[in-house]
This record gives sequence, C-alpha cells and structure tokens, in this order.
Amino acid sequence: INELASAIRDMSSRPMKFMEVCGTHTMSIFRHGIRSLLPDCIELVSGPGCPVCVTDQQDLDWMISLSSEDGVVIATFGDLMRVPGSSTSLARARASGAQVEIVYSPANALELAMERQGEHVVFPGVGFETTAPAVAATILQADAMKIDNFFVFSCHKVMPPALDALFQDNEPGIDGLLCPGHVSTIIGAGAYESLCRDTGIPCVIAGFEPYDILMGIYHLVRQAEAGEARVENVYQRAVSQEGNRNAVELMNRVFELEDAKWRGLGTIRESGLGIRKRFSHIDARKQFKIESPAPQSVSGCICGKIIRARALPVDCALFAKACTPTDPVGPCMVSSEGTCAAYYRYGCNVKG
Ligand code: SF4
Repeated sequence: INELASAIRDMSSRPMKFMEVCGTHTMSIFRHGIRSLLPDCIELVSGPGCPVCVTDQQDLDWMISLSSEDGVVIATFGDLMRVPGSSTSLARARASGAQVEIVYSPANALELAMERQGEHVVFPGVGFETTAPAVAATILQADAMKIDNFFVFSCHKVMPPALDALFQDNEPGIDGLLCPGHVSTIIGAGAYESLCRDTGIPCVIAGFEPYDILMGIYHLVRQAEAGEARVENVYQRAVSQEGNRNAVELMNRVFELEDAKWRGLGTIRESGLGIRKRFSHIDARKQFKIESPAPQSVSGCICGKIIRARALPVDCALFAKACTPTDPVGPCMVSSEGTCAAYYRYGCNVKG
C-alpha cells in the first residue's frame, strides 16, 4: 500500500479531481484514511451512487402516502424508513399507525405477504443493477406461486445513463471516474466504453479494499497524466468484460427501461427499471391509486448538488448542526452509503 501511495505521489504533477461513483467506495475511502495517503493535488468527490439518496422526492411521498392506505403493509429496507419525504417519513408514518415493516430482502417481503393474507404487502424496490436481479427473481416467484397480495413499487435505476447525463458538460471538472464495483459485477466493464469514448474521461473499475482503491486511483492518475481515456478493470476477480449475463437476463425478463426522475439530476431518459406489462398485477404503481401533494424540497438541504458533485456536505449550512445521522434532514445523511453520513462519521471538516 505504501509503495502504491508513493507511486501515486511521484506521478501526480497537477491538480486532479476524481469521482467515486459508489457509496461503498465513499465509506471505504473514509474508513481506511485513503485521502491521507494521497498528495494534496488529488481531490476525491462522491457521485450519484447511493440509491436511497437519488430516489426522487415524489416517489418517497408516494410510498409514504401508500403506507396510510387501509390494508397496506410497506415492507422495506431499514435505511428507507428514515428518509424525509416532503412532510414526513415512513418511520414517522409508522409511529402514527401506518403498517411499515423492516425486511432484509425482497424474498423476506414475499414471505411476509404469504403470512399476511388479506393485506397488501408492498416492497419498495430501490437500488441499481446490483439489487434489481433479486427483486426480479422475487417477482417471478410471486407470479409462479400466484401470490396475489405482493406488490413491488419499482424505483430501480440503472447507472450508465445517469453518468452520461452527469458528464454531458462535465461541469464539476472531473478528471477520472472510479466506477462502481458492485454495479460493474452485473453490467460488466464493457458498459463504460461509450461513456469513456464520448466524454474523454478515464474510467477505472476497482474493488473496495484499500489496495483496490489505491490501485484504481493509480491508474486514473496514470491515464490523466498521459492524456488517455480508457476503461481499465482492476477488479477482475469480481468484474468481467460482459458482466453477469444471468442476472442481466433475469432483470430484462421482468423490467424494461423507462424514463426516471433522479434527485439532483432530474428526469433521465431510459434510466429507470419499470415492471413489464406481463407482471402489472404485481406493479404497485399500476395497482394502487397513489396520490400525494406536489413534492416539496427540504429547505436548506443541498443533497441534489452533492449528488452532482457541485458541493460538499461541509458546504451545507445544516451539516452537523440541524442535520445529523440521528436527526437527518436529507437522504444523504440517512443512508449508510450517503456522502453526508460519511463526512459526518469520519471527517466533518474534510474538504476534497
Ligand atoms: Fe441535506 Fe443534511 Fe446533507 Fe445538508 S447535511 S445536504 S441537509 S443531508
């Protein structure tokens, strides 16, 4: 590790800004003190890789509205519970009597539906290509077993279109991308070729251990210094060129691409995974009349800018004051993969 860090320092001749797309990378960079090993001229910023953080406010409001319907049980992962909607959260809705249960997998939600006959169990599908295959498998299972009280509210998103949108103008001035490791296991290294070619931004896929991250940064620096832009995969023990074909096939059987709204990035063409018509009987968006007032953005929260790498958590006036992990104001402080949560936990005053 020390040799790698030293090689990075020796090679870096100018200021460079790299984006780690994945929230797990963000946490690992803090946890292992990676910044302290890098020269001052290298800045690391976080991207749109926290699924809870990029979930649109209106989708959150719809889930919360749905939770107050008679006979509806929301079966969700824990981190979604505390994300503030326009006026409340699922956790507060539960405290007021709504039926909201924590589950640990989509299969867990399906089991709950089998136990709670006579009630409608709705699983909010939030995540990227990493989690969508398991949700697709559960939808297929529910369909095969003819379970009629299990529904999925799909907010799933796919990563490449979001990166395309983010780097159309490259306003944040990013010199290289540390591509998301988990997502890449599914979509493969080949999925970044067009982004790299069209934007001229070096892309390196790396794992999550300190050595993996430093190796990724080493290759980003090397490419940036040489004026190259290529896709490099230094996580070959987990990521192949073509990805996991079985998982992709599973996703494609159940989901189809549709336009999706991202917090901070707006509507991005064909960046969401909608449930195919064949499974519309399981699609909560089709089966429930969901109404909620127009979404309100939370006053003072700059999560949208942070997701686009236009600001750091320490630029937010609420950071570590009105907004903390125990009393979060925005989604980036809630999720274990959120940038604000990482800054709070590991380095409140870190800039760059
Ligand atoms: Fe939003 Fe809190 Fe982060 Fe500020 S510190 S951007 S309020 S989540």
